[in-house]
Amino acid sequence: MFDLDGHVALVTGGNAGLGLGMATGLAKAGAKLAIWGRNLERNKAACARLSDIGAEAVSFACDVTLPEQVDAAMAQTLEHFGRLDSCFANAGGSGIRGSLSSLSTADWQKTMDLNFHSVVSTFRVAARHMAERGEGGRLIATSSIAGIIGLPGGGYSPSKAAVSGLVRQLAIELGGAGITVNAILPGYIETEMSLDTPPVFRQSCERRTVSGKIGTLEDMEGIAVFLASQHSRLLTGESIVMDGGFTIFPM
Ligand code: NDP
Repeated sequence: MFDLDGHVALVTGGNAGLGLGMATGLAKAGAKLAIWGRNLERNKAACARLSDIGAEAVSFACDVTLPEQVDAAMAQTLEHFGRLDSCFANAGGSGIRGSLSSLSTADWQKTMDLNFHSVVSTFRVAARHMAERGEGGRLIATSSIAGIIGLPGGGYSPSKAAVSGLVRQLAIELGGAGITVNAILPGYIETEMSLDTPPVFRQSCERRTVSGKIGTLEDMEGIAVFLASQHSRLLTGESIVMDGGFTIFPM
């Protein structure tokens, strides 16, 4: 039912963490993968891991905060595969920490560039290709539950909240072209980024995750396959919370 044979997927930040989890699921379902990241060694290692699963995987160096690099990496991706069926704008991070009054405009901008404008640039160029090709497509952003709860300091929460606004706008703009646009809002999942958060946050996540189990990278596999597949055709403009119940349990 979820066979992605012949499907071409792009995962930004696909060389580690949640992105590699999603890429792994897509590879298991038969998709071909393009991975974007800045660290060439990690890009190479991720492609080797995806190839071991049996997927055709290729990586391109790209800093998603730089729109010219996004455009160049998309051109390379399309030159390699000739098409793109799903685009996972996943790359992101904590950004610059500190209270608003302590942050410079440049610090604030960096976080917005990393978590929000990167999604704008990536979706823009992916949507152009998908609309021109005329076969529809799937745009999926990795947002965060931080976009619907408040987290102190930095611009992480606002940068993720903005992603939900973007997917609603684009879902309307692109619906006629058969392109769906959604965001996944994961709760705490242990990765390089989340290990950098205060221990008290992890403890709170463990306590409020009603299943008692913090998410793992494997938990990203199935949702990626579903959202890439034809079976998610009617799902668009949504911010899908996937947090083991954290946000519905305030204790
Ligand atoms: P990791 O630090 O494990 O991985 C981050 C990935 O993004 C790496 O592949 C990294 O590759 C890439 N990346 C970072 N900055 C850039 C950049 N400027 N240009 C291109 N690629 C970049 O983080 P996670 O897997 O935890 O985070 C992935 C996404 O998931 C983020 O958007 C994050 O906000 C979100 N998220 C994470 C949660 C968690 O608990 N871990 C919870 C909710 C959301 P490289 O360094 O090679 O560029």
